[in-house]
Amino acid sequence: MKDFRADQLDVVLDSRRILRAIDLHVHAGEMLGLIGPNGAGKSTLLRALAGVQPAAGHIRLDGKELSTLNPLERARRIAWLAQNGPVHWPMNIARIVALGRQPWHEAEAVTHEKTQRLLDACALGSLSERHYDTLSGGEKARVLLARALAGDPELLLADEPTAALDLSHQLEVMERLRAHCRRGNAVIVVLHDLRLAGHYCDRLQFLKDGKTLVSGPPRQVITSHWLKTVYDICLRDGRDALEAFSLNWRLRHHEHEASPDAALPGQKQPLIEEDP
Ligand code: ADP
Ligand code: MG
Repeated sequence: MKDFRADQLDVVLDSRRILRAIDLHVHAGEMLGLIGPNGAGKSTLLRALAGVQPAAGHIRLDGKELSTLNPLERARRIAWLAQNGPVHWPMNIARIVALGRQPWHEAEAVTHEKTQRLLDACALGSLSERHYDTLSGGEKARVLLARALAGDPELLLADEPTAALDLSHQLEVMERLRAHCRRGNAVIVVLHDLRLAGHYCDRLQFLKDGKTLVSGPPRQVITSHWLKTVYDICLRDGRDALEAFSLNWRLRHHEHEASPDAALPGQKQPLIEEDP
């Protein structure tokens, strides 16, 4: 994928206009954060981008209308991680994550091997035989992210992937999304935490009442003006908004790793490296 863009998206539900003339774009290697209050239309927008919510306007992947991609190609290239996505099947974790490989029609042994490696990489190996219903909310969220990543999508649409997570798992998940971008993919992520959004996203798009209020680099979006306009909050002591929402902690084992702004590779690299 080179780029993904939406132009003038409109969604009407129950005779109410939920999205109005939304424009959006993201290119390979980039992470776009969607922020905004409850009910702004973020999840509806993500569903529209995933092609599961009919919308007026244009959605194009590398210039090609999403609706003209065949379902298999779409499933291989775009993954959608729903907000509080339910799992209806009585399956263990390994099988749920393996479902993410389904569009690739590969031999069962290959899927099994790739799934095990991904589970280990996501620190979910110890849960692989557990039944989904027995997991905590945070564990469930991490399993569903692993399933979305299992297909190694060029575009990942992730709806509040950190909502149920403790502090260190929030950072782990954001680092994982960032790593996905570094491998030449794009991520569009819905977040409420402006510290995570400002630190990890290349660009942010503020939505309110189904419209884009502002989009751009975090420093242009996380400002006292927009915080007041969107959330009706003001900062104590006239502090700088970006500084007030800066992320002042990191995972200890990531202390020596490259910053999120490290140079991007030009080409897509696989999620799960082949054995040397
Ligand atoms: P967000 O994810 O930003 O919190 P949503 O996209 O879930 O917001 O919802 C945006 C608005 O659309 C809300 O007012 C919500 O009540 C409404 N909405 C969402 N889904 C439906 C639906 N299926 N029918 C009618 N209204 C809906
Ligand atoms: Mg939502």
